[in-house]
Amino acid sequence: MIKKIIQEGMKVRNKKISMRMCLGCREMKPKKELTRIVRTVDGKIEVDPTGKKSGRGAYLCKNDQCIQICIKENRLSKALNSHITKEIALRIKDELTNL
Ligand SMILES: [Zn+2]
Repeated sequence: MIKKIIQEGMKVRNKKISMRMCLGCREMKPKKELTRIVRTVDGKIEVDPTGKKSGRGAYLCKNDQCIQICIKENRLSKALNSHITKEIALRIKDELTNL
């Protein structure tokens, strides 16, 4: 009986880990291992380390390789459904690199 309760407890806990796809390597990872980039309600593109800003979000691993691919292929534009200029992309890249 006790064992069963523990197992069910673990099941619930597992469900709470939300997985997100990295825009660079396209792997699914737990949200907290990724950095969120958000298009805010007023259309600004921002790095959101807390993951709490409202708006449409995209996720990236915290490694240079994924950041590079994402910026180089302009994957943010598609993911956030927004036109990302080179200037914005570079600013985001800078912020991600310096987190
Ligand atoms: Zn990645």
